[in-house]
Amino acid sequence: MRVLISGASVAGPALAYWLTRYGFEVTVVERAPALRKTGGHAVDLFRPALDIAERMGVLDRIQEMKTGTERLTMYTEGHERPVVVELRRMMAGVSDRHAEIMRDDLSEIFFDATRDDAEYVFGDSITAISGDGEVTFERGQARRFDLVVGADGLHSNVRRLVFGPESDFSTWIGAYLAVVSVPNFLGLDATVEGLSGVGRMAALYGAARLPDARALFMFRPAEPIDYHYRDVERQKDLLREHFADFGWHVPRLLAELDTTPAFYFDSITQLRLDSWSRGRVTLVGDAGYCPGPAVGGSTSLAVVGAYVLAGELAAAGGDPARAFPAYEAEIGEYVRRSRSFAVSAARKLVPGSPGGLWALRAAAGLIGLMPAGVTRAVSKLGARGVRLHDEIALKDYTAHEVRTAARP
Ligand SMILES: Cc1cc2nc3c(=O)[nH]c(=O)nc-3n(C[C@H](O)[C@H](O)[C@H](O)COP(=O)(O)OP(=O)(O)OC[C@H]3O[C@@H](n4cnc5c(N)ncnc54)[C@H](O)[C@@H]3O)c2cc1C
Repeated sequence: MRVLISGASVAGPALAYWLTRYGFEVTVVERAPALRKTGGHAVDLFRPALDIAERMGVLDRIQEMKTGTERLTMYTEGHERPVVVELRRMMAGVSDRHAEIMRDDLSEIFFDATRDDAEYVFGDSITAISGDGEVTFERGQARRFDLVVGADGLHSNVRRLVFGPESDFSTWIGAYLAVVSVPNFLGLDATVEGLSGVGRMAALYGAARLPDARALFMFRPAEPIDYHYRDVERQKDLLREHFADFGWHVPRLLAELDTTPAFYFDSITQLRLDSWSRGRVTLVGDAGYCPGPAVGGSTSLAVVGAYVLAGELAAAGGDPARAFPAYEAEIGEYVRRSRSFAVSAARKLVPGSPGGLWALRAAAGLIGLMPAGVTRAVSKLGARGVRLHDEIALKDYTAHEVRTAARP
């Protein structure tokens, strides 16, 4: 059975891995000319995603490549002294198994685990998918597939072709974010440092493994901003505008915008589709159910989604009429909980009022003071939904495997 996957980032290669392990014939088409190594940003893998990585035989590589970020030093406007948070302590409250890794590194690890078993086509994109499975491409010859999966991110091409324009499904949850690759001029290692204010925050993080540092900007305007997601110059101007009078090292970071080799900007947008499958086409990861970049644990959700989709397809003998509803039912609750977590996380991370900023500082200070065990207990009792990842039970699809994990 032939499956075409659009997108070779995290969800795409993870899905390719599991499908080939169940005996499907897989082609992955990626618009970028090669595996994207574009600076990237740090993402979190929580318990279920790490359990899946372990079953894939790639856990050791993930552990080797993890960023090891340990400390957050956060200044808040109006206070001279920063709050210092031990991140390991904080993450212990969220999940009892966690690794932070650069998105590009994770993508490469998943790609390496599948490159011998799946066909990868770079520098191309799907232009049409017909009801009988004929797929046409911008460059390559038309080909026929039994199933097509969009793993092509928040601005998914497959979703647009099959379900309609993004604006029909996206809800802005109140903020924008940018990531800029800059020289590590503060010499940061395993540390994040930054400044929070009302409606905006800027931070810089570095890790021994990274040749440079990454600046992260988040801001909350009163209204959504009108811009095109590929108009980089306008996006840089928006950052300059919103952070013009912000303190700390922000003027230096803004100066780097002219020469940065890697710039990422997006709205913190949530996708809300009631169903993300139609006929022989389905979606996985951010393409189908992005809870909001940087606030909703979407990487773990993408890895779990890929694992479940492949497993349900194997269990249904490749029949999409049975497999797709089973896939959606299996991860539906995880998707809904990630969405509500992301809405509240976006509000708390970039507070829109002085009271919200005070609460953020107080919460960060508390984490710094409490022993890890207490942080974990409090998060279990208090903030609802914080441990949503660890509460996911992974189904076992081992019976459908036709090959086992290749050990690295
Ligand atoms: C700044 C930032 C910080 C983040 N921080 C976190 C975090 O801390 N924790 C966390 O869990 N998640 C975080 N995320 C989200 C995380 O990066 C994504 O949720 C995760 O990578 C999901 O991967 P994906 O494969 O579904 O989509 P993506 O990573 O978006 O990949 C989509 C792929 O599809 C390709 N593509 C696009 N269009 C086409 C086309 N027409 N044809 C073929 N290919 C196409 C793209 O080139 C890309 O390779 C963050 C995201 C951002 C932007």
